[in-house]
Amino acid sequence: MGKVLGQGNFAKVYHCRSLSTNESVATKVIKKEKLKEDRLVKQIKREVSVMRLVRHPHIVDLKEVMATKEKIFLVMEYVKGGELFAKVAKGKLKEDVARKYFQQLISAVDFCHSRGVTHRDLKPENLLLDENEDLKVSDFGLSALPEQHREDGMLLTPCGTPAYVAPEVLKKKGYDGSKADIWSCGVILYALICGYLPFQGENVMRIYKKAFKGEYEFPEWISPQAKILISNLLVADPKKRYSIVDIMNDPWFRIGFARPIAFSMNDSSI
Ligand code: ATP
Repeated sequence: MGKVLGQGNFAKVYHCRSLSTNESVATKVIKKEKLKEDRLVKQIKREVSVMRLVRHPHIVDLKEVMATKEKIFLVMEYVKGGELFAKVAKGKLKEDVARKYFQQLISAVDFCHSRGVTHRDLKPENLLLDENEDLKVSDFGLSALPEQHREDGMLLTPCGTPAYVAPEVLKKKGYDGSKADIWSCGVILYALICGYLPFQGENVMRIYKKAFKGEYEFPEWISPQAKILISNLLVADPKKRYSIVDIMNDPWFRIGFARPIAFSMNDSSI
């Protein structure tokens, strides 16, 4: 086991190398003693089940799960290039570059949704870049499987990160997880192109208020086509918000878009 790559609330992620194959992997190490609440045990089990279900070129691959008396090890593919967050923190991206990342994000999210999985915590910190600058979605700790949904297909548990969470999630009346993920994708796209977040405020309530009203502004430099797409993603009413199909038909999005090959292979094998 090598250096620590990152640290979450109750896990550390290490860079590791297999002694037999010399392959680099990233291993999330969870101390069982930290899983005091039943809720946390369920969360880890769900993370593992989801990652086994969603194998896709733009989703971090879970290779193996191991456990000792004290620890649980999630052995994942090693994604070398760090978080997309680090890139955005340096400033806005060119629209062509933002489009590539956004297309890869949407194909991963579409794949998850087609399997009844919603991520529920999409943000640049959970989007990793590999050595080819390709995006990989990670951290399915808050994701939901089909069994978490109510009979009407809605989810109830509010979760996510304030700046990225869809307004309807906070209403606690039930929400469509797919549409909530699409809102987060809209916030991500805005952040990639503009270099800052659409909804900001001194405290969480102010951020939520702006999101509820869909109150944000565009900078001058953004292209009219990108503006149209973002305006249809950051719509407070989830029924009026673009679906994945709408996104895939959007002129700005469609430029040079090709679904990854493994997507259709996986699709037909189910
Ligand atoms: P949180 O409590 O924020 O949800 P977590 O405990 O679920 O975090 P992750 O977000 O999955 O942990 O991982 C923490 C950090 O470790 C990531 O932000 C990333 O920087 C790094 N990391 C995670 N998985 C990998 C990977 N497969 N390859 C390289 N680095 C990774």
